[in-house]
Amino acid sequence: MSGLMAGKRGLIMGLANDKSLAWGIAKQLSAHGAELAFTYQGEALAKRVKPLAEQLGSDFTFPCDVSDMDALDEAFATLKARWETIDFVVHAIGFSDKNELRGKYVDTSLDNFLMTMNISAYSLVAVANRASAMMPPLKGDGTGGGSILTLTYYGAEKVIPHYNVMGVAKAALETSVQYLANDLGPANIRVNAISAGPIKTLAASGIGDFRYILKWNELNSPLRRNVTIEDVGGAGLYLLSDLSSGVTGETHHVDAGYHVVGMKQEDAPDI
Ligand code: NAD
Repeated sequence: MSGLMAGKRGLIMGLANDKSLAWGIAKQLSAHGAELAFTYQGEALAKRVKPLAEQLGSDFTFPCDVSDMDALDEAFATLKARWETIDFVVHAIGFSDKNELRGKYVDTSLDNFLMTMNISAYSLVAVANRASAMMPPLKGDGTGGGSILTLTYYGAEKVIPHYNVMGVAKAALETSVQYLANDLGPANIRVNAISAGPIKTLAASGIGDFRYILKWNELNSPLRRNVTIEDVGGAGLYLLSDLSSGVTGETHHVDAGYHVVGMKQEDAPDI
């Protein structure tokens, strides 16, 4: 264990199980000395999240549904009651009606558009607002501030069949990262996103034909493989630690290089 995160405390939002991207990041942070608190979406997930938190030496878990501003306020009040300040937050949250993560974007309903935007994009703004208020003020010696990290996907940049309204929400999320980075930069609070390649998780299982997306990325990315939650965890550690002290407003791709490729690889078989 290195002391990269020693003395730092932070909140992990979006852990569902040991396949979650949030788990890959939390494991790395803990291995490098961070102290972690975790939120879970509802009581049904508490029984999964609590034992995982315990594995990383944390008994600090509490509920938070990010679509409910009162619940968010309550969660941050719970956090503040035990920890006066925090140094980082991981926002690994996204949701849309799975019936609209297939078929055509043109058929998106207003209700699901608003819900997807609220949970998958606005929630980062609401979290950043509350989390930044708990980050240590910037001092004359350059200490203070913090780091906020969210998770996005290439479907924000280019059309990925079935990703639909979630791609539009991720585009709003990535632009929010830039605006938040600019607002919070003077307080030395950095805001970044990891654009992860496809990984089989609970959330991903809602996306139509996800197995095809996985196979396509494996065959056509420069590294000719899919990424793992450990790959995402390594990049998360970098973006949440002082190693990335000069980096903010960035969407960092952890996708085996897939985003630089313009067409099918010559060696990729038909699938
Ligand atoms: P996951 O299912 O493990 O995590 C999604 C989390 O979002 C869950 O913990 C769920 O409880 C939480 N959530 C949903 N609605 C919520 C709400 N209203 N309030 C609070 N929490 C809520 O899946 P994951 O793939 O690890 O997803 C984490 C993030 O990574 C998401 O933003 C997802 O879009 C993003 N991402 C995933 C992939 C992938 O292929 N799996 C790729 C790129 C980006």
